[in-house]
Amino acid sequence: MFDDGQEKPEASTQGKAVGIDVGLTHFAITSDGSKFDNPRFLTKHEKNLKRKQKQLSRKRKGSNNRNKARKKVARVHRKITNCREYFLHKLSRRLVDENQVIVTENLNVKGMMKNHCLAKAIGQVGWGMFMTMLKYKAEQDGKTYLEVDRFFPSSKTCHVCLNQVGSLPLDVREWTCNNCHTKHDRDINAAINIREEGLRHLTCGTRDKAVQRGLGGFPHERLRQEAYRQTVSRSNRGRKKSTTALVSG
Ligand SMILES: [Zn+2]
Repeated sequence: MFDDGQEKPEASTQGKAVGIDVGLTHFAITSDGSKFDNPRFLTKHEKNLKRKQKQLSRKRKGSNNRNKARKKVARVHRKITNCREYFLHKLSRRLVDENQVIVTENLNVKGMMKNHCLAKAIGQVGWGMFMTMLKYKAEQDGKTYLEVDRFFPSSKTCHVCLNQVGSLPLDVREWTCNNCHTKHDRDINAAINIREEGLRHLTCGTRDKAVQRGLGGFPHERLRQEAYRQTVSRSNRGRKKSTTALVSG
């Protein structure tokens, strides 16, 4: 992945930490409250794609026209892929530039793809690719990327008092904690929990090499959370961005 011949910088965790939750309405939601729309590239190009596929199916096998029609279909596919990659590069670049520690949720994207209702939507948002980009951009810049366990209840836990609600159906976008009465935006609360969980790993986990994929979950502990808070507030001396973006955007 580091084919530019440069040494990979030492990973540092000094600086701003961000938790990122991914979704369908919004592609990404951050712990500092930013929401990034999900650009549905496939939906946008769907009509065009369907038409070109239909044209292709009408052409006689082995004919010149069939070959031309096939190229047209391929061109639409390429366009969709390019748009998606551009979007993912741009967003991951921005998040890595703005933060020193990037925490996401370790999603079972392949498992989710088996659920056909969601498959199309998930397939086109490209979360897996997004996380791969965050990871290698962070590594290139000497930043820390980690994923917290996907069974960690990021949505159902109140980030203020750590109270857990029993169930939170997907259509509930806002909820109020019945313990501390904080009103939560579902996604932002989840993103904050993802960040806190990641920081817990960094402070309590294996000290130097906590930056790995698929770390197991830690139970919530209030005391430890305090420690992370301090870690974060202490850490505004993140190192300067030293990258010339290898990928444009
Ligand atoms: Zn609460």
